[in-house]
Amino acid sequence: MGVLDRVFTRFERELKGKAVRDRPLAKHTTLRVGGPAGIFVTTDSLNELRLVLQTALDFGLPYFVLGKGSNVLVSDEGFDGIVIELGIDFRKIVVDGGYIQAGAGVALPVLVQVACKRGLEGLAFAVGIPGSLGGALVMNAGAYRRTIGDVVRKVTVYTLDHQLRSLDRSEIAFGYRSSSLPADGIIVEAVIKLRESDPDCVAGEMEKLFRKRKRTQPLNLPSAGSVFKNPPGLFAGKLIEEVGCKGLCVGDAQISQKHANFLVNLGNATANDVLTLLKKVQDEVYSGKGIILEPEITLVGEFPPSLIPRGRAGEDCEVDRVG
Ligand SMILES: Cc1cc2nc3c(=O)[nH]c(=O)nc-3n(C[C@H](O)[C@H](O)[C@H](O)COP(=O)(O)OP(=O)(O)OC[C@H]3O[C@@H](n4cnc5c(N)ncnc54)[C@H](O)[C@@H]3O)c2cc1C
Repeated sequence: MGVLDRVFTRFERELKGKAVRDRPLAKHTTLRVGGPAGIFVTTDSLNELRLVLQTALDFGLPYFVLGKGSNVLVSDEGFDGIVIELGIDFRKIVVDGGYIQAGAGVALPVLVQVACKRGLEGLAFAVGIPGSLGGALVMNAGAYRRTIGDVVRKVTVYTLDHQLRSLDRSEIAFGYRSSSLPADGIIVEAVIKLRESDPDCVAGEMEKLFRKRKRTQPLNLPSAGSVFKNPPGLFAGKLIEEVGCKGLCVGDAQISQKHANFLVNLGNATANDVLTLLKKVQDEVYSGKGIILEPEITLVGEFPPSLIPRGRAGEDCEVDRVG
């Protein structure tokens, strides 16, 4: 019996049907590509999270937390370890005046709706971002010059030594699509602070920004949002368009005709198609403009080394990778 089978047997015994063997991750990513997770497990409480983490450590298995899968590219071979989804206890929301305490598994669109109904202002930028609160904090998700880091007050992280660490906003550095939150910790909860306002105004602002997204982004096709970070003072989409890559395809992976920094899946794209296209675009922009576009997407699993895109200028492999 292999390690994954032994771990799965333990999970079946202790977690009663919450673990699945070889679940295709394409179903859990917004790009709709990616092979299976060795074990996919939904943890509904801190105790279950503790058990899963301890088991991963005991057996030396790699693990990673999947939010809504809207900023990951999972390899066609999948992830040969444990993929952890945050369940029931991590999807709770408590509103107190302008403060919202929410589990890391809460979907941003849900949070946005809650804020809208209560007339709480400050989350309109997040309308249309399909991630979880945990994923948004890790990536410091943002739009229209606002980010989640602007509204967060406290983040609770579960650490590998089984401690809950509460971090005040002042202890966290948020950068452009990055945060200093501990890389090996799991975000379990956060408190955000919004301004109490008029519900109609809040709804109006949200509608306006959502209409803008619909007008400018290919929301009808699977994607992972913007695939490259904007270089300082520039727009990745504009650079990609200027070097003639708009509409470029590899298999069913395409640089969107609507927004050149969106890479869409026309139907049956593979992860290798996506990465080959991403690298082609990176090479074209580099030879045409002398700028290395830094991928925004996180790679999960093993990829052929020849397909790994370059990271920041002068560095070879600075792409975020798991596994
Ligand atoms: C149509 C579309 C539009 C988008 N628009 C935007 C936009 O305007 N602005 C923007 O910033 N992004 C945008 N994105 C990208 C994406 O939605 C964000 O980056 C989002 O914050 C990712 O959250 P997630 O839960 O999907 O994370 P995932 O993709 O599941 O994971 C991303 C990373 O976060 C880690 N992670 C997730 N949850 C936790 C946790 N609880 N604890 C520790 N680590 C965790 C994962 O391990 C992984 O490394 C868009 C995506 C799509 C598909």
